[in-house]
Amino acid sequence: MVVIEQSDGLVVVDAGGSPPSGIAIVAEIRKLSPKPVKALIYTHWHGDHNLGAGAFRAAWPRLRIVSTVKTREAMTGVLAPTLPGYAKANADMGAMAATQAKNTALPPAVRAGWSRIAGVAPGMVEGYARLTLYPADVTFTDRYDLPDRTAPVQVLFLGRGNTEGDAVVWAPRQRLVAAGDLVVAPVPYANKTYPAEWIATLKKLEGLDFAYLVPGHGPVMRDRAYVDTMIAALETVRAQVGPLAKAGVPLDDVQKRVDLAAVRRSFAGDDAWLGLLLNAFFTRDLVTSAWKEARGEAVLQELP
Ligand SMILES: [Zn+2]
Repeated sequence: MVVIEQSDGLVVVDAGGSPPSGIAIVAEIRKLSPKPVKALIYTHWHGDHNLGAGAFRAAWPRLRIVSTVKTREAMTGVLAPTLPGYAKANADMGAMAATQAKNTALPPAVRAGWSRIAGVAPGMVEGYARLTLYPADVTFTDRYDLPDRTAPVQVLFLGRGNTEGDAVVWAPRQRLVAAGDLVVAPVPYANKTYPAEWIATLKKLEGLDFAYLVPGHGPVMRDRAYVDTMIAALETVRAQVGPLAKAGVPLDDVQKRVDLAAVRRSFAGDDAWLGLLLNAFFTRDLVTSAWKEARGEAVLQELP
């Protein structure tokens, strides 16, 4: 959660991923300041960043919700139709995780990871029982300013990357940038992404003179090391996949032929669970997107 205090109210980045988490975040904000939340900014359309917004709307009816035009389009066009299936999808995931946690053929670190997912699944299923979308009231394409004497905020679209409409929130006086899921740690998230543009967008992000980078998930960063690692991974995958895709090698074969050892080492080391997450959330999807990109095929925003 990022809360920026301006003279006449608070600016909050993302709303939590479910109604209960929205309620919990609102309670935390009330502990921080008596000022109202005047603006809620969505970094992108994925539900884990906006499905808690109802609690904000109830607590501060006059707040304005801000996103890029593309984020609003994807929320209403792509996310909205999936909401009725959210609870069941998480119940299925929980059941699968519970089965994997008992699978003695798997390494202990992997079983422990599945066990953690199985543990939180029931709460998530309950949290997703009644979902309402709150798409942005105010949209922008390149930049949206929230001026203030001591804590001006710029909401910037630096280019496509993790989605078609990623916004980053930049507080130049505090030298803080909230990057949304353009940056996710310990493993990046690459479902339906734009590898070449993502690299350019991350380089622009690195061009901001930040002291604090708040990723969409993961610990606050104080330097550019992790973003550099992401850029290197995107470049190595593009460099390998591009020529194969252009030579007509089918995607399934490219997935088998691409050498991801260095990427795996840089994000997961010897950790088997991180390696599994890296494959599930980053490398497989990234290879697919890079393959489509090299062939000039469109990458459409949709859920995995
Ligand atoms: Zn996310």
